[in-house]
Order: sequence, then C-alpha cells, then structure tokens
Amino acid sequence: MDIKKFARKNVLDLNPYLSARKLGGKGEIWLNANESPFKNEYTYTDEGLNRYGECQPPSLILSYAHYAQLPPENVLTSRGADESIDLLIRTFCEPGKDAILYCPPTYGMYAISAEIAGVQRKTVPLTAQWQLDLTSIKKNLKDVKLVFVCHPNNPTGNLMHQEDLITLLNMTQGKALLILDEAYIDFCEKDTGVPLLDKYPHLVILRTLSKAFALAGLRCGFTLAHPSIIQLMLKIIAPYPIPSPVTHIACQALSKEGISRMKKQVDTLNLNRAFFQTELSKLPRSTLFDSQANFMLFQCQDTEAVFSTLWENGIILRRTPIEGLVRLSVGVLEDAKKIIELLQKKHLF
Ligand SMILES: *Cc1c(COP(=O)(O)O)cnc(C)c1O
Repeated sequence: MDIKKFARKNVLDLNPYLSARKLGGKGEIWLNANESPFKNEYTYTDEGLNRYGECQPPSLILSYAHYAQLPPENVLTSRGADESIDLLIRTFCEPGKDAILYCPPTYGMYAISAEIAGVQRKTVPLTAQWQLDLTSIKKNLKDVKLVFVCHPNNPTGNLMHQEDLITLLNMTQGKALLILDEAYIDFCEKDTGVPLLDKYPHLVILRTLSKAFALAGLRCGFTLAHPSIIQLMLKIIAPYPIPSPVTHIACQALSKEGISRMKKQVDTLNLNRAFFQTELSKLPRSTLFDSQANFMLFQCQDTEAVFSTLWENGIILRRTPIEGLVRLSVGVLEDAKKIIELLQKKHLF
C-alpha cells in the first residue's frame, strides 16, 4: 500500500526542521541549541493529574504579565514560542493565498510552519550588516499578513535598529502584523519592543522560558499582543495546551526568587560571552561576531576542522546556513577553556 498517495503534497515536499537534537552528536558539552548550562531545581507536588488543567492557567498568565509589565489580557501561553508561530500563521494566513515575510538568515521555524500550513513564503535577506532591508520589504508586502523579525536575531546574535523597527511598524500598519520574536530578549531586556505595544496594536511579541530561564525542556512560551489578537489565537489553540506540571514549574521560575536567579544567570552568561570571545579569538585568523544573546557566530582559518575536531571530542557546536560561520552557545567558563586546550593539543593553532 502506498500510504504517500493519501498525504498532503506540501507534507511530502517538506524538509522538516533539523533540530540540534536530531543532528545528533555524542558529547558532554552541548553548545548547539542555545540552551542554558544551568540546571535549576523545582519542586512538584501532585495537584491532581486526574483533572484537566485550564487552557490558559490564570496563575501562569498573571505571573508572566507581571514579569512583562503588561495587563494579563495581553498575554497568551503556549507549548513553547514555536507553537505560537504556528498559531499565528493558522489564525491569520489563508492557505494558497496569503504570505508571510521573513529576513534570512534567521530562525527556521517561520518558514517551516508556513510550509506545513500551505502558506506562501517571501524572503527579504538581511543587509550585509545583518539589518532590515526596509526598501525591499516595502516592495514585497503584497499578500503578506505576517512579517517575522527576530530580535536579537538567531543565528546572527544582533539586534535590529530601533528606528528601523518603528519604520517597519509604520509601514505595515493596516496591512500586516509585525511579529517580533524576542526569544533572547532577557539577555538585553532594555531593548524589548513591549513599550511599543500601546501605540502599535498590530505588533505581536514572542517570548519563551527556553533560553534565559533555562527551561528548554519544559516547553513554555508566551505571546504578548493586543487582546483582540490573543482572543483570535485562543479560538484555535488546543483545549489543554499547557500540562499542569508545566504551569506549576513555570510559576516557580516566574516568582520573585525565580526571576532574580534568572537575572543573575543572565549576568553570568553575558560575562561568559565576553570570555568565550577572548578565548576563541586566540584561534588563528578568527572573527567573533558581537552578540546580544547567549550565542555567537565565529569563523577562523579552518572553521570546518575546528568544528569536526570538537564534534569528535564531544563538544557539539552548530553549523549555520551562512557560509563558513559556526554558531556556538555560551556555556560555563570551563567549556571555553576545554575548547582551547583541545584545539592546542590537536595543533589547530
Ligand atoms: C529557541 C527559539 C524559539 C523557540 O522557543 P521555544 O519556546 O523553545 O519553542 C523561538 N524563536 C527563536 C528565535 C528561538 O531561538
């Protein structure tokens, strides 16, 4: 039986997302998925797993609203920020008719969620300085319902200029929603777009507990937007998207103590990033790109040999679609020291 004849064409044609996990590798030092190196402890007490939880647990919504300094009506929680990307596309884009627009090199899930939904994808590459090409975006807005901007951008690590974001908001007003993906904003919190939400009701901000909050395995994300956008997305979300243990743990992470621990860990990782940059710049002919997030891009004389030597020795980095550039998540200081020691031993200096 050829089961494929029953499948949707765009599913047959799809190149699925290659997560860091699926790419494999054996190791002890994982610097390929922008995870936090910190393992924080949580308690769990059984509150009755025989019952369904609430679709939008009020305690969780209130906790994040407090953290984001917004009223709770502006907050939606979902199974990671990834689910929010999918919800936005399915809420706002008519398959076979509407389009999304994004600016590569950037996060891969915008394209993949659109492809699965049968929604057209328009791309306007970032400039050579990895900034928004506003002229070209303006020319490509036809049929576009959602414009995705990642801020700081993954994999380049930089922020978009604030004045460009405002120009883009004015340009898209009445035409499309602007989705600002702030998965890494906790590493540079003053650059958040949250203060713009009041003036621009077509702005949508994505957040997650996966990166600075060190809870990638929890699967908990948030959408910050005008209540009318949140209400539409809630029409299509699964009835029980947030497992009750997730609510329980996420609320601990978002407590006063949880937030102050996260802020300390962010300070540490921001310092470690500078240390990683200093250490890795010892590699011959290396370039370390400045970043505002917990990862950075680099290249050196023989990037490929560095990548594979580390890979074979259990230190896992990530290749990027940008020719010759490797992405490395910031870990603990010992990780950077181990990298340099190993590469010295292998004479890659
Ligand atoms: C990690 C990441 C996400 C996904 O976050 P989850 O909450 O783990 O689904 C979204 N956007 C960007 C840019 C990311 O790097």
